[in-house]
Amino acid sequence: MICLLGGTFDPIHYGHLRPARDAVEALGCAVLHVIPAAQPPHRSAPVASAAQRLRMVELAVAEFPGFRADDRELRRGGPSYSVLTLESLRAEYGSQPLCLLLGMDAFLGFESWHRWQDILDLTHLVVLTRPGWTTDGRAAWAQERYGDKAMLSRSAAGHVFFLSVDPQNISATQLRTAFAQGGTVRGLLPEAVREFICQNKIYM
Ligand code: ATP
Repeated sequence: MICLLGGTFDPIHYGHLRPARDAVEALGCAVLHVIPAAQPPHRSAPVASAAQRLRMVELAVAEFPGFRADDRELRRGGPSYSVLTLESLRAEYGSQPLCLLLGMDAFLGFESWHRWQDILDLTHLVVLTRPGWTTDGRAAWAQERYGDKAMLSRSAAGHVFFLSVDPQNISATQLRTAFAQGGTVRGLLPEAVREFICQNKIYM
């Protein structure tokens, strides 16, 4: 089973990395691809450049065995539609189960993603709990797709699995503000990423 985590990663932080590690351990995944978006379709342009965001991901994954920085969306250019990324991963991994990890906030907007139904033919969704976010009965479309852990490994794609992870009340927005204002960031992201941001004055 292969896990994937896409995002803007402006910057990457422990709110991404620890829930992803919890998921990888819970699911018994061998590999997690961490995939920074070139042009995220759903939001304004990132502050850090694509090259800086990739470098921060590379520095961060060094702390986590099995995590890989994956630059395919940056190499492809154009809007970073997940469906295209998943088609390329599917071509690479054949019929192995793929699990796209996404936080609850991202999951609630999933129906607005480009060709979202096609995405479910390519991957399972593993929805990670995130402080401040609940389904509140939304995403009714997912009900018929709910699966348990065993179902994820028995099929290549198509199930939705909710995973309760150790809560990390951290967001990239909060970190950009803290860097700009000289606030405290220690413990919220890998030290190597913090040093890179300070050396390059990315959010200051
Ligand atoms: P921003 O504050 O700039 O919107 P972010 O911290 O939400 O950024 P993204 O790069 O947009 O980070 O998120 C990538 C993925 O990681 C999304 O699926 C998001 O839901 C998930 N994620 C981010 N932070 C957390 C967190 N603290 N707990 C669980 N999931 C998270």
